[in-house]
Amino acid sequence: MSKQSRQFQVPDALANLYDFANTLDLRHFTHHGVPHQRHDELAGAADLAAWMAQRKLLAAGAKVTPALFEIALGLRASLRDYLQHDPAERRNKGAARALNAAIAAFPLHAELGGEAGARLHAVRDDALAGLSVLAAELYDGARNGSLDRLKMCAAEECRRVFFDRSKPATRRWCMSILCGNRIKTRAYRERQRGVD
Ligand SMILES: [Zn+2]
Repeated sequence: MSKQSRQFQVPDALANLYDFANTLDLRHFTHHGVPHQRHDELAGAADLAAWMAQRKLLAAGAKVTPALFEIALGLRASLRDYLQHDPAERRNKGAARALNAAIAAFPLHAELGGEAGARLHAVRDDALAGLSVLAAELYDGARNGSLDRLKMCAAEECRRVFFDRSKPATRRWCMSILCGNRIKTRAYRERQRGVD
């Protein structure tokens, strides 16, 4: 869970997914005259290690090698790709194929007992073991339906992942007042131009 996920009231059970998907920030619109710069929080293996350590997902002394870093980037790419499909499309196995292949590298095993009644553990025991929590969040979220509310902003110049808290769960933009209005204004102008 991060400041961002709290600010936007993302459920804790999806917070790692939300944060991980948004480590890639492709926003490139201008807001209040300030151009937004694209930014990748995971520019290198050390960045991934820091990101994981911040969330207590990195075992002490574990080292993220360049090869492991590539695996993590592949997971992020397929996660973002999956999240850009609307929930109905996600039921189609084709939409989930790449993500399924990516999370196959993060197997989990179940253990009964303990305070929660049961726990899922990472099978991996390398530096990426902690990212297995993403597979668990995907599974839980898909089963209880909350994953349907984790979406990617429809604005091409945004592509931010957001949690849709609206009752009907039909939001398409991360922030209607920002991305939604920008697109509506543009569509309006284009229509006006068409009339001239
Ligand atoms: Zn947006």
